[in-house]
Amino acid sequence: MLVDLEVAMLDCVVVGAGLAGLCAATKLTEAGRDVVVLEARDRVGGRLENVVVEGVPLEMGGQWISPQHERMCELVDRFGLTCVDPTDGEIVVRVGGSSRKVPTSNEIEEHLSPFEMADLGQGLLRFRRLAERVVKDAAWADANSKWLDQEVSTWAATNLRTPGAREWFANVYDSAMGVSAAESTLLEGLQRVNNGVDMESLIAVNGGVKQQRVAGGVVQVCDRLAEALGEAVRLGAVVTAIEQGSEGVTVTLADGSTVEAREVIITLPPRLVSRIAFTPLLPGWRSELAEKVPAGNVIKAALVFESPWWRRAGLSGQLGSDEGAMRVIFDNSGPVDKHGVLMGFFEGDSSIGKRSQFLRQRAMEETIKTAFGAGHPAAIAYVDRDWYREEYTGGCHGAHFAPGVWTTSGPALAAAEGRVHFAGAEYASKYNGYMEGAVRSGEQVAEQLLA
Ligand SMILES: Cc1cc2nc3c(=O)[nH]c(=O)nc-3n(C[C@H](O)[C@H](O)[C@H](O)COP(=O)(O)OP(=O)(O)OC[C@H]3O[C@@H](n4cnc5c(N)ncnc54)[C@H](O)[C@@H]3O)c2cc1C
Repeated sequence: MLVDLEVAMLDCVVVGAGLAGLCAATKLTEAGRDVVVLEARDRVGGRLENVVVEGVPLEMGGQWISPQHERMCELVDRFGLTCVDPTDGEIVVRVGGSSRKVPTSNEIEEHLSPFEMADLGQGLLRFRRLAERVVKDAAWADANSKWLDQEVSTWAATNLRTPGAREWFANVYDSAMGVSAAESTLLEGLQRVNNGVDMESLIAVNGGVKQQRVAGGVVQVCDRLAEALGEAVRLGAVVTAIEQGSEGVTVTLADGSTVEAREVIITLPPRLVSRIAFTPLLPGWRSELAEKVPAGNVIKAALVFESPWWRRAGLSGQLGSDEGAMRVIFDNSGPVDKHGVLMGFFEGDSSIGKRSQFLRQRAMEETIKTAFGAGHPAAIAYVDRDWYREEYTGGCHGAHFAPGVWTTSGPALAAAEGRVHFAGAEYASKYNGYMEGAVRSGEQVAEQLLA
């Protein structure tokens, strides 16, 4: 049934049809509430998106889930979707300008002296122990909040003694987190490790979290959730203002129309929340937070080939490198499609990130040629997505908390402001920044409303 938005007083308006918004709306709808999801884009999924090229679905946003991402795995199961394991084969590792092919994570040993290796090992171990302590000992974390606000790179400079080990630590950290060790706080890094990022196996196992992809693209989870919600999902609905009154909220869209509801759930990344005009104003710290919680700046790129030619050479299609514009590459081919897909990331603020798409394609092709050897078939298509420039996302993979921000504002972040509630990957207490965090946060806020 199509709800007449102009006349009906809804139970809840959900702003954003990403995972968090769709999961929140699903829970509320299943409990019999009248809900409308207002989505600015002409598609659902938010930071999850498929682009179909040559009949091949290419995942341009989030893609990996791991077994501990329980809610995501349940959704994948519920919709009868299947997972794709990482590709077997050798990994190419480039260090100091030369390439090696290695079957496991032992590749690091090939390039570091035994002393550097031991240093790196102890550094990673310390990092993990510290991460555990942050979780298990809240009082200790509280007492050391100032110290935990130092940059990860500062911590690494103090705790790793050799330049080789420090360099590897920074490379692995940057690739795993999608943000530089020089820009992350120690607390943020430790929380991400607790959220499942396995730094040691980053290069050996696809993405570092023993991850799997969903065959055909994880965005199908959003498509199915949206299908079930039907007319309740309104696309092309850009929310510009939210006014709270004693009875409910009035949500205003860019076309001037309004929607009335008792409550509103906002699922935008924190940086975008400040674009909405709130009456009364949200507390000052929330707007300040928007400035202090920038999103990462990563461009995700994919090259499509007629076939996954690297597999015939015994390669996994995976690259880890200490140089160049693209330092990690993965095999993103589908499980049944005959085409081959290689996917990698550019740092958006690097010089190549600022150049044209054509030059980025050339840079990726050069990286592949250098790493995997020349003489392979040419790519038949190239696609990339600069999430930083996406109006309704503003960066990827997610927001990262500048020094001092999490300790001062983090715990209050997910708290409601009257009838205005917040959900999304960046509001999750567990798996923050991940799809799993988005699902849990969306469901949690819905449960709170129902209670
Ligand atoms: C390149 C990339 C790689 C990633 N890799 C992984 C990965 O491998 N594994 C993993 O777990 N996570 C990954 N992530 C992160 C993951 O995609 C996100 O954590 C998750 O999808 C966020 O969901 P969300 O619902 O919280 O936010 P979003 O998906 O950002 O949803 C917010 C929605 O709000 C809409 N919106 C914005 N402004 C307005 C407005 N004014 N009015 C109405 N609607 C609006 C947006 O269009 C969007 O649909 C990746 C992300 C990116 C971009």
